[in-house]
Amino acid sequence: MAKSPPPIAACALCKKTTTLRWSHILSAWVYRRAINLYDDGNNKLVRITDGVASYDGQQLAEYMLCDACERRLKLWEDPAAALAFQPLGKNNVERFPALKNARLFAHNEQFHVVDMSLVDVDALARFALSIVWRAHVSEQCPKIDLGEYAEPLRELLLAADDRPVLPAWLQVWLQLVVREPFDRVAAKPWPRIPTPDATFRVFDVLTFGFWFQILVGPGVLTMPTSICASRSRRALLHDARDLGPGIMKLAQSAAAIGQLAKDKRNGKV
Ligand SMILES: [Zn+2]
Repeated sequence: MAKSPPPIAACALCKKTTTLRWSHILSAWVYRRAINLYDDGNNKLVRITDGVASYDGQQLAEYMLCDACERRLKLWEDPAAALAFQPLGKNNVERFPALKNARLFAHNEQFHVVDMSLVDVDALARFALSIVWRAHVSEQCPKIDLGEYAEPLRELLLAADDRPVLPAWLQVWLQLVVREPFDRVAAKPWPRIPTPDATFRVFDVLTFGFWFQILVGPGVLTMPTSICASRSRRALLHDARDLGPGIMKLAQSAAAIGQLAKDKRNGKV
């Protein structure tokens, strides 16, 4: 969206009328990191929109929040930035602090469940919720509609206690995407209806190794909490295979720079 002078209007989060900041839907660090990773004059962030991958330098941003609310969301964005895929490191484990700090909890042939107690999972959950809420507010994400849950979620993000227990109708699940090239993918949040008779909706947020699923609705009460990040501080490891070979191919074709380009071991878990 074209940048015009900052308007004086109601902040979408706290509702106070003030000068609004240019607010990112996905956090600004996502774009900064993409530029730092692949500094060849072309932003190599792979963006997925409606299941289609493309290189995309366009930043999803608009005038939305006041200064205080921007700072509030930053409380959760900073830990996410520190735990997400980093530009440098010997291999994917080194480059992905969230993965490095994950401890295997249980596994079978299909799933690996990891304990994430060593990292700030609450902040990661709030980070994902803030992105989906911003996408709901933004006209640039018309498919993200939180409906009657938008207002309680706004209040949750604004609560004086920034570690409130999430209500029963809301869960945040987390998958750590351990297979390259998902160190360079950021998706515009997208909605899903899990099954035709499901009484909850799922909103997906995928960025720099984190793939969040935000479950919203009365049916959430029937969902297991044992692998829910916001309830149990556990996550799943995911190899991202079902995101599609086209996306893999596109992401792999982006050339790395600096140490990444020199280190042939890079990308091996
Ligand atoms: Zn505000």
